[in-house]
Amino acid sequence: MANLDEKLQDIYDEVLHRNPGEDEFHQAVHEVLDSLRPVVAKHPEYTDAEVIRRLCEPERQIIFRVPWVDDKGSVQINRGFRVEFNSALGPYKGGLRFHPSVYLGIVKFLGFEQIFKNSLTGMPIGGGKGGSDFDPKGRSDGEVMRFCQSFMTELYRHIGEYTDVPAGDTGVGGREIGYLFGQYKRITNRYESGVLTGKGLSWGGSQVRPEATGYGTVFFVDEILKTSGDSFDGKKVVVSGSGNVAQYAIEKVHQLGGTVVACSDSSGYVVDEKGVDVALLQEIKEVRRARIDEYATARGDGVRFISGGAAWDVPCDIALPCATQNELDADHAAELVRNGCKIVAEGANMPTTPEAIKFLNDAGVKFAPGKAANAGGVATSALEMQQNASRDSWTFEHTEQRLAEIMRGIHDRCLQTADEYDAPGNYIVGANIAGFTQVADAMLS
Ligand code: GLU
Repeated sequence: MANLDEKLQDIYDEVLHRNPGEDEFHQAVHEVLDSLRPVVAKHPEYTDAEVIRRLCEPERQIIFRVPWVDDKGSVQINRGFRVEFNSALGPYKGGLRFHPSVYLGIVKFLGFEQIFKNSLTGMPIGGGKGGSDFDPKGRSDGEVMRFCQSFMTELYRHIGEYTDVPAGDTGVGGREIGYLFGQYKRITNRYESGVLTGKGLSWGGSQVRPEATGYGTVFFVDEILKTSGDSFDGKKVVVSGSGNVAQYAIEKVHQLGGTVVACSDSSGYVVDEKGVDVALLQEIKEVRRARIDEYATARGDGVRFISGGAAWDVPCDIALPCATQNELDADHAAELVRNGCKIVAEGANMPTTPEAIKFLNDAGVKFAPGKAANAGGVATSALEMQQNASRDSWTFEHTEQRLAEIMRGIHDRCLQTADEYDAPGNYIVGANIAGFTQVADAMLS
């Protein structure tokens, strides 16, 4: 990673020293600090008041034991986390991730990103994140339910409509939010809709929340295309992942006239030149909870399954990494550029490595970082909070229109800020600086 200016390097060294072994957190901090050089030069008040140093230290970090009983009657122990990173703009807001890779460094990287992402949405929400190293894969409904209940038995005392509002992330969808909300209600004896987002439609959820992250990412790319008078019409798109974000990104690309020719899961990827069939993908992933090779078998006819590897060698105009952190490296970036890819937008959080980002930038590929491109999920969570607070529920059309406006707003703010700081067209610089200044000003005022 490139060296930072003296003051920023000093802050980064302190982060390394204070958070040993948390590579993903270091990476996320470095990327933001790197963008802040011109801000520090222009605004000494931020460094004088140590705003950046303060921002790098979470306000509160909670780690707890999650005991639960599996279907065989054995006691299992997992570790739960909630990092309440920054509340300058509103209650902590951010998802819960259940995945075996989760440890404090992952939760901190996600929480740190969430501060700037949430700020970019323009909604009154602070940044937080949580989760567990629990692996839902292969677990029965009953096991997932007992795990969620035990997780909430500790978490409930830390969250609330005005304190901290969790939602889903990898491994946490509508089913898990349901188990978590039920336990919260049982313990507190309060129907506090605003304590969690991503709820079911019949009990306080919002239209478009399941679709929001994927749709939002595609709306963001649509705005990028529009800057050069272009559109999705006839574009070939490769999406990595096949979970919630990927599914709805695929759906929206198809609605806007593009074709998604490949998607993946951790077992490999499928190439479907006719366009990925979203209904079939959803049936396999959400109902059967099976691997992606079943998609190729069920769809038959010319659809290929490639075991292992990533889908980035499939030629495309637009690539949407929607799986997980650091899934797209410099070799993949080179492959994408060789095959003519012009836009990369992150549906997942930090899926592109710093080396890959540099390669893409140098090659003139337009690159939309996750904290801008995937902010539609948390923005729609904030719309869910708004509906809960006013005991209202909006139509699909109205909510989707709000989402599209928010994504357009984020896009325009990124470009405008990049211009102001002499980095025209650089969405990373724009997103990091625009996200940062709003939080920093709130902390100073
Ligand atoms: N997990 C999502 C994200 O990474 C959504 C968080 C939320 O809705 O609070 O932004």
